[in-house]
Amino acid sequence: MLSVSDARVCILANFEPVETANLSIDRLAGRVLAGDITSKTDYPLFDNSSVDGFALQTSDIAGALHTSPRSLLVTADIRAGTYSDLPIRSGECVRIMTGAPLPPGADAVVMLEDTDFNEPSAGSAAPHKVAVYKPIRPGENTRKRGDDIHAGDKVLHTGTRLRAQEIGLLAMLGLPEAPVYRLPKVALLSSGDELLPVEAPLTPGKIHDANSYVLTALAESAGVQLIRLGVASDTEADVRARLERAVQEKADVIISSAGVSVGAFDYVKSVVEADGKLDFWKVNMRPGKPLAFGKYHGIPFFGLPGNPVSAFVGFEVFVRPALQKLCGQAARAHPTQKAWLAEAVESDGRESYLRAIVTEEQGRLTARLTGHQGSGNLLSLVQANALLIVPSGVKSLPASSEAIIWLIE
Ligand code: AMP
Ligand code: MG
Repeated sequence: MLSVSDARVCILANFEPVETANLSIDRLAGRVLAGDITSKTDYPLFDNSSVDGFALQTSDIAGALHTSPRSLLVTADIRAGTYSDLPIRSGECVRIMTGAPLPPGADAVVMLEDTDFNEPSAGSAAPHKVAVYKPIRPGENTRKRGDDIHAGDKVLHTGTRLRAQEIGLLAMLGLPEAPVYRLPKVALLSSGDELLPVEAPLTPGKIHDANSYVLTALAESAGVQLIRLGVASDTEADVRARLERAVQEKADVIISSAGVSVGAFDYVKSVVEADGKLDFWKVNMRPGKPLAFGKYHGIPFFGLPGNPVSAFVGFEVFVRPALQKLCGQAARAHPTQKAWLAEAVESDGRESYLRAIVTEEQGRLTARLTGHQGSGNLLSLVQANALLIVPSGVKSLPASSEAIIWLIE
């Protein structure tokens, strides 16, 4: 049977990033950059003060003390947003506000707190003279032009998902728009005659549909646009009608759950095979063995297992990296970490993704399973904060050995 890593390679070969467009800065949150961003300017833009104080020549205040202050003439007042090109000469200083440009001749700024003008009221005019109580080093309390960024520096890279801080950087550098990938369209389908919407009263034999909500939340966390195909009944006609909508709406990928094992009513598999192809429909893993991948009318198709935990694991192992690639990001599996096992863990030799709770104990990550690992036991996934991976071919991991984990949100 196909291994998890071979299945992932096979899947990822079917995905390329979607098209790109320039978007204005107020619409960039959460979008993925489609080009590197190079700064056109130095940043800071000009030498400026990092405090409210007096810009001066440090040689004038060498040896200043509270008991023997140095008195300087205040020749100008530079507020934020203004500048002064009046050169500072020996014996002189200018009042300066945080962020305002340093005047020529000044080599540092003494803080208000280190002068006799230390409690000005808001809006008060600059004094004519100021007594400085403390010597400072050249450059102190100043930010030099280009300290952070030089013109020509590459500051953001293709494939970065834009958060508040990246968007702030674009604004700071005067860039009102940026190239980003469009949102991929992801069609979601659940299937099964037993499924009722969460609001519907249950009748004998029925259960509430959980996967539509699980997959919606997972897909939204991957930053895509959703096409909701609803719940198909176990008939070829209904499955086909709903998949056709994905084709009409030009979905970039279809994610369906259930109906891909070998049951008598597993119509999803047969409908996809009739109008497309399945590359595989079983993967050597636990949970999630009945997992299909192929194309329906040329659209990449994931047939996740019906059991909610299996659907979740299948999404994290295979779908998320594929969506990352579609979105223009590097397709990467979760960052792995190592944890000590607080208990022995059994597996059946398939690559296993077990629900675990990982805590830090005596300075090291320690993992325990969260209850029974049945693939319908969604509560144990709720209680987990990690998936513990037992490699293929391994049937048991002893207590106190090290295991690989993925932290999950
Ligand atoms: P199947 O793959 O259709 O054989 O389904 C496997 C198991 O998953 C069955 O117990 C189904 O009732 C259950 N199942 C399928 N779809 C869902 C869903 N959307 N929500 C909750 N359980 C489901
Ligand atoms: Mg079914």
